[in-house]
Amino acid sequence: MNSRTEQRIALISVHGDPAIEIGKEEAGGQNVYVRHVGEALAQLGWQVDMFTRKISEEQQTIVQHSANCRTIRLQAGSVEFVPRDNLFGYLPEFVKNFLAFQKENGFTYPLIHTNYWLSSWVGMQLKKIQGSKQVHTYHSLGAVKYNTIKTVPLIASTRLAVEKEVLETAERIVATSPQEKEHMRSLVSTKGNIDIIPCGTDIRRFGWIDRQAARAELGFDSEDKIVLYVGRFDPRKGIETLVRAVGQSEFRDNRNLKLIIGGGSVPGQSDGMERERIEEIIAELGMQDFTTLPGRLSQEILPSYYAAADVCVVPSHYEPFGLVAIEAMASYTPVVASDVGGLQFTVVPEATGLLAPPQDVDAFATAIDRILGNPEWREKLGKGGRQRVESKFSWDGVASQLGELYTEILQTKVEEKEAVLLSS
Ligand code: UDP
Repeated sequence: MNSRTEQRIALISVHGDPAIEIGKEEAGGQNVYVRHVGEALAQLGWQVDMFTRKISEEQQTIVQHSANCRTIRLQAGSVEFVPRDNLFGYLPEFVKNFLAFQKENGFTYPLIHTNYWLSSWVGMQLKKIQGSKQVHTYHSLGAVKYNTIKTVPLIASTRLAVEKEVLETAERIVATSPQEKEHMRSLVSTKGNIDIIPCGTDIRRFGWIDRQAARAELGFDSEDKIVLYVGRFDPRKGIETLVRAVGQSEFRDNRNLKLIIGGGSVPGQSDGMERERIEEIIAELGMQDFTTLPGRLSQEILPSYYAAADVCVVPSHYEPFGLVAIEAMASYTPVVASDVGGLQFTVVPEATGLLAPPQDVDAFATAIDRILGNPEWREKLGKGGRQRVESKFSWDGVASQLGELYTEILQTKVEEKEAVLLSS
């Protein structure tokens, strides 16, 4: 047994349930991150409990993922889905129920890794109440986000204040890219400790199926030119830019062009409305005959979609990291992405794909066509992407960096205790 075995840690993700279906409204990168980090840390010998908010009576309260890793759903407010911008008022109850859970089970978590600003507030309370050490990953920064949207929500000033406080008080902040760290420093605070540890992907799940086998499985032709989007339906994801860019592709008159827009949505909810808006643009540009919207792509089928594509496009207005880019790269598929945030870190222009200014339809069209028009180069970019992911972005590597960070912080705690004992 190494010294880490039996060491308990809590990952808190109030609004991003790590045990839920990915690809629907509000379920995206954060859920994937927490789930994979949790499972990989458990493999390394940590006892990992991931806390989230229960949103339906049908949900199990505790989901056991593996021997040392489980999701625990706490009640906070009524048991129903509440959009994240309206969740802040429920957090004191979340803290109360977290403390009750600890009491019932007879232990306290010495280290808490919080995700997104809502959870950071929970972590800061636990730090005050019981001295837990806090590691925090933002996943999104209010200071960046509010620059890119027209209507700022009522909760904005609270969020900005909480994001500043956690940066200045947590033992460590995990930035997932150098670009995110830079934004924290320039827009949030010059105080506080930041480490850069990227997000990861499962290099065994992606990249095992080759392009032709994947196309055969999905019913595409080997001659097709396939452009793929994977992600949530949210205006900030820039799907409109992609559709308009493909609409002016020089390959459009060639019968083999295919545009696939994968992602879940619920009619009437905000993602359902965005899907409808995108479908209207597709109709307006006369693109229905070569565009498909297959809905949510399950984790099982995703590797085939990425592998089948000639190019995967990530046209976000802003992206703190962007898991989709590294999933495509792990699948030997070049990426055309917006020249923003974490995408500037993951995508290396001319080596693993291309970057284009966000919302610039002409630039996206040119970049996509450059790749579609040169299959040999596409292969080369695909291999470059796979290599980059293997060397920098595997979950195992990410989890071991996080594990080292936790060990260092917990060690400091032991040293602090010893110092107190010596001085008393
Ligand atoms: N995803 C999925 N099925 C879908 C759409 C998305 O499994 O139909 C997953 C995708 O594979 C990725 C995550 O959702 O792991 C999206 O993460 P990303 O960081 O790209 O964006 P976010 O949702 O955090 O804005």
